[in-house]
Amino acid sequence: MSSSSARSRRRSACPVCGAFASDADAPFCSQGCRDRDLLRWLGEGYAIPGTPTDRDEES
Ligand SMILES: [Zn+2]
Repeated sequence: MSSSSARSRRRSACPVCGAFASDADAPFCSQGCRDRDLLRWLGEGYAIPGTPTDRDEES
């Protein structure tokens, strides 16, 4: 018996930080990354003064 570990289930990675995307915020991992991506589009080349978000709310 061959266990099909290779399912055709593609879990996309968040284009912003590379974490696994959540179903709620797909294709992003969180609302924060969604906003970030949007800001990128709106203000490409803008330097947004730092909010070092090392940790999003994951737990
Ligand atoms: Zn993310």
